Amino acid sequence: MSQKVAVVTGSNKGIGFATVRNLCSQFDGIVYLTARDEDRGKRAVEELNKEGLKPAFHKLDIDDKSSIDKFAAFIKEKHGGLDVLVNNAAILIWHDSPEPLLKQAEETLKTNYYALKDVCNALFPLLRPHARVVTVSSAAGFLQRINNEELRSRYADPNLTVEDLDKLVQEYIEDVKAGTQTEKGYSSPYSVSKIAASALARIQQKKFLEDPREDIVINHVHPGFVDTDLVQHKGPLTIEEGSVASTYAALLPKNCESPKGEYLWYDKQIVDW
Ligand code: NDP
Repeated sequence: MSQKVAVVTGSNKGIGFATVRNLCSQFDGIVYLTARDEDRGKRAVEELNKEGLKPAFHKLDIDDKSSIDKFAAFIKEKHGGLDVLVNNAAILIWHDSPEPLLKQAEETLKTNYYALKDVCNALFPLLRPHARVVTVSSAAGFLQRINNEELRSRYADPNLTVEDLDKLVQEYIEDVKAGTQTEKGYSSPYSVSKIAASALARIQQKKFLEDPREDIVINHVHPGFVDTDLVQHKGPLTIEEGSVASTYAALLPKNCESPKGEYLWYDKQIVDW
């Protein structure tokens, strides 16, 4: 049987780095630490090497389609398939940024939603039966963050398609252009991006249920408020604590009934999205 393969995006630091560390000791296979910057990625691998852990490295910039395609082709050629994918990479433009809101919204949605979707589109065809996918969402991705019942029900529609979701995201961008985003009930661009990431995971789980490959499961997780660069080190949790839910969802046993398509909190509890 071929060696199992796990991939964590944006794992040169923070929660992704801690997730790679956990998988190196708990996953029975090869673990890819990936990073958009080769030097930062290789330095992170060296740090884990000092602990006796041996992740593999590959460059992966999720904002760059050619980087995603190269990585997917490499995994296909070298391993023939993929068993764990943790969609961890994301950005947060801090609320005091001088950038105009429209630019913030476009950049945030580009990485946290569109690039995430590109990674899934390129790597999902490689998933093997019993594969586990984790999308790192956020408490900011909790649907109640949209203060508009009609919009919430569109995001939560069990028949929502990816095309519908793209349209919802585009509508938000149009609202930012028109300056109507607050009256529509949206909060920050980051929150909308994480709501969209969570909505995408729910759609993807529905598709996996109809997939001829058996037992592929995706969950979306809130890692907790974690002491990382992303949140200017304001979070109280360590990266080890912040990687608990991702690691748990990445290592769910074969044919597990639950969680499946669920929103998991950092303590592994299922929360009604
Ligand atoms: P960090 O900023 O520490 O790490 C983010 C990682 O994503 C970095 O490795 C960064 O790379 C990478 N990244 C960003 N853009 C890209 C890209 N285009 N291609 C590849 N990698 C990229 O943040 P966290 O560890 O805190 O965040 C991890 C996840 O957890 C994110 O999805 C975040 O939204 C989520 N989260 C975090 C919370 C927290 O309290 N920290 C709370 C809720 C959710 P580089 O070093 O090159 O910038």
